[in-house]
Amino acid sequence: MRPTSIQHVGLKPRPFPLSNQILRRHHSTKKGFHNAVIANPTSSVQPPLKMSSMARLPTKIVLRSLVLTSLMSSKLFLKPALAILNIVTNSKSAILNPDRNRVLNKLLRWTVYNHFCAGTNRQEVSKTVAEIKKIGYQGVILGYSKEIVVDPNEKLAHDGSGSLNYSDKCYQIVEEWKKGTLETLRMVGAGDYLAVKLTGAGPISIDAMADNRPMPEVLAKAMNEICVATREQGSRLWLDAEQQVLQQGLDNWAIDIMRKHNSSAAPLVYNTIQGYLKGSKANVDRHLTLAAQQGFSVGIKLVRGAYIEHETRPLIHDTKEETDQSYDLIADTMLCRRMPEGVDLPFPNAALFLATHNAASAAKAISKHQELLLSKQPTVLLECGQIQGMADELSCELVENYERALKVSTANDVSVPKAFKCMAWGSVAECMQYLHRRAIENKGAVERTKHMGVALRQELWRRIVG
Ligand SMILES: Cc1cc2nc3c(=O)[nH]c(=O)nc-3n(C[C@H](O)[C@H](O)[C@H](O)COP(=O)(O)OP(=O)(O)OC[C@H]3O[C@@H](n4cnc5c(N)ncnc54)[C@H](O)[C@@H]3O)c2cc1C
Repeated sequence: MRPTSIQHVGLKPRPFPLSNQILRRHHSTKKGFHNAVIANPTSSVQPPLKMSSMARLPTKIVLRSLVLTSLMSSKLFLKPALAILNIVTNSKSAILNPDRNRVLNKLLRWTVYNHFCAGTNRQEVSKTVAEIKKIGYQGVILGYSKEIVVDPNEKLAHDGSGSLNYSDKCYQIVEEWKKGTLETLRMVGAGDYLAVKLTGAGPISIDAMADNRPMPEVLAKAMNEICVATREQGSRLWLDAEQQVLQQGLDNWAIDIMRKHNSSAAPLVYNTIQGYLKGSKANVDRHLTLAAQQGFSVGIKLVRGAYIEHETRPLIHDTKEETDQSYDLIADTMLCRRMPEGVDLPFPNAALFLATHNAASAAKAISKHQELLLSKQPTVLLECGQIQGMADELSCELVENYERALKVSTANDVSVPKAFKCMAWGSVAECMQYLHRRAIENKGAVERTKHMGVALRQELWRRIVG
């Protein structure tokens, strides 16, 4: 059986796999979450909430999540906290460098770092990965946070002939990035994902990406080594999406890498598509058309997009509802294996990774996937994931959903999406940009954060009284 065309394998797919509680919470409180009614379109009665799927979380995580989500859903706290985080993230002062200031380091570790990040070294990361898998997640996605900022005066150097070239330091950064990325790969296992951040390779990478030039040779060689090592280990990798000034170049590189390394039916390399962009559907169509024409498999990691605060606003859908529709349409296109209009080619081998904290989008895609499997129609491999420290209530539902399916499955292959947790590692200072992005995301998701707070309080209460 080809992984890109999953057949019904003995498991009775459940038509609406996510619990009605999670979906109703979104439907009843958020405008635009029309999809949520799919869980139970006729019911208007709200049953008492029982958070059984979160029972798998250690109490330490429940407590820490509760404290953080309560603070994050308070505008009074969030505004100054974001301002402080912004200063620490962008400051060049040694006092505000958490890797030099031990008090600041401890403070950040106790509050945000331990909640969102995997650890500062191999030992800490391995422990976190083991804990995540013990909770029941079917896999992890791990990324290396280090981003090196080069002083412009150090970037260029004259060679023997007098022409300007990148300095040795810039080449050294590519080498360090490759080593760090390969080290990260060794911390995950077969079936897990390596998250690759190409901007981490420094000016040689960033400049070429921004100018939409082909991938520089030194980087192409490093990337090739990373892909080969990932395949040998039985893992997969994805390329993180960036801001639009870089993304066009990055998309072209991603397609080149997929053409070279995605020769088998199940993709090794995934590119990230940001659904909030007005051009995202056309971009997916371009990926599908090229893959069909040139015979490689295409892996799509679908996100909404994390750079709304810094992006050229007209490139992004005008409203949240339009972004939601765009996201769901791309997921549906992949699941139903629909080629772009006017392209008369068979759908290529493909896989979809749904990277979202939005329960309505997850439910809609999973529901469609199950519907296709039930009616024995071809679809693509579907997997789901959330960021560590975020949307644990949805993640736990997905884990439970998979475990339930596994119990009744008669075959090895369970046709319900696996659930992953995505995390970054690095020293506290190296993870500051990542933590800052997570804080901004939480600011834009106050409603959801409030619901997570309610769910956590109920789970804690259940533990106390039960
Ligand atoms: C596993 C994982 C990996 C990720 N990797 C990346 C990555 O590589 N690159 C990246 O950019 N992001 C990445 N993200 C973050 C992602 O893009 C979102 O910022 C985040 O997940 C919040 O979106 P959501 O789908 O969870 O749902 P929601 O919380 O429902 O949606 C929030 C998102 O909707 C969009 N939005 C909000 N308001 C508006 C508005 N007024 N108009 C239009 N759109 C609006 C924004 O994209 C916002 O982030 C990742 C997320 C996950 C879970």
